[in-house]
Amino acid sequence: MSAIDETHDPARTSWIESANGHPDFPIQNLPLGIFSPPGHHARPGVAIGDRILELSGVGALLPEAVGHLLTGTTLNPLLALPSADRLAMRRRLSQLLSDPANRDALTPLLHRAAECVVHLPAAIGDYTDFYVGIHHAMNVGKQFRPDNPLLPNYKYVPIGYHGRASSVRPTGVPVVRPNGQRKGPDEDAPSFGPSRRLDYELELGIWVGKGNELGRPIPIREAPQHIAGYCLLNDWSARDIQAWEYQPLGPFLAKNFHSTISPWVVTAEALAPFRLPQPPRPEGDPQPLAYLLDTHDQQHGAFALELEVRIASEQMRREDTAPFVLSRGPATNMYWTMAQIVTHHASNGCNLQPGDLIGTGTISAAEAGGFGSLLEISQGGKAPVTLPTGETRTFLADGDEVILRATARADGYVPIGFGACSAVILPAP
Ligand code: CA
Repeated sequence: MSAIDETHDPARTSWIESANGHPDFPIQNLPLGIFSPPGHHARPGVAIGDRILELSGVGALLPEAVGHLLTGTTLNPLLALPSADRLAMRRRLSQLLSDPANRDALTPLLHRAAECVVHLPAAIGDYTDFYVGIHHAMNVGKQFRPDNPLLPNYKYVPIGYHGRASSVRPTGVPVVRPNGQRKGPDEDAPSFGPSRRLDYELELGIWVGKGNELGRPIPIREAPQHIAGYCLLNDWSARDIQAWEYQPLGPFLAKNFHSTISPWVVTAEALAPFRLPQPPRPEGDPQPLAYLLDTHDQQHGAFALELEVRIASEQMRREDTAPFVLSRGPATNMYWTMAQIVTHHASNGCNLQPGDLIGTGTISAAEAGGFGSLLEISQGGKAPVTLPTGETRTFLADGDEVILRATARADGYVPIGFGACSAVILPAP
């Protein structure tokens, strides 16, 4: 697992002024992504303050293993590298961006982020979504099965399903409200039309690094070597379509119409200072089976990340009202670690590939202020939320913008953020 080094030094600053004190992208972060400068094609970059550094231009200054991988339009080859190579690149970039002697040479390679278009960082071969937020699973389970909210497999199996990679989009791409079959509890037959219960889900995403060969599982101790980085993920969900279609095979059209991610790969190396022990399981819960249990993972497998969801209705944006906080909570409310998710996914020999995206599942806190979906906040539509404009919401309205954020914090270190993961809802076609 990546170590803490000089790149995390809180005293290190950048000659790019906006990086110093930047809530997401100080020099301690250095997340990787794909962007287009105005009028130009897509290329790899690193976010630093309110700028993006074009990586192809510094390829010659970077370690040999990475230098020649920086001219494409996806990060897949970079994600596939051993983490030692990404770490070497990080250390070199940190040096280049902290030493003012590089200012003149690198300034032509800097672009104002606000003027650039961000893209998906990788060609996503496969997208899988898990369900490891135990409070979310409890809250949703209670709505469907008040006496038996968690099914018996939950504490043994990291529950997941295969999602749809083709409809993953970066932040900023509007979400078209899906049409589908909806059947209310009092209706005899379903009708087809716009979802009436459109929701978001606050999740983290794992970017798979080095893959595994078909038929060759990933031992839990090696799982960190297969994780290149992380993002925020909004698994938009049409609850009415979901409730009608999900039995017996699980989520389908209620989920696969669109998923939004934050476009910057926050590397596992950047997150080294923000590791936490996996919270102990409640008394009486089973221990993970041996293939999912590793002492080091239990000691360092969780993250000190604060997650936040805000909403801005069309009226709020028109009136310049600040987005309203729907929830705030820690990312430690995961019953399984990232390593356990990866190991379980490959445990049957399923091959993961560089650039695959894996969602954690909705991360909710135990308390109401930290619920990660409107389904939970509005108690299945029974308790509307009042926005600053006086508008109310049980589920999302057309024109609503949902903004997810994540910030890593630890004593003695500079906080780093994931950047925004946001999108506006457009009416159904
Ligand atoms: Ca989900």
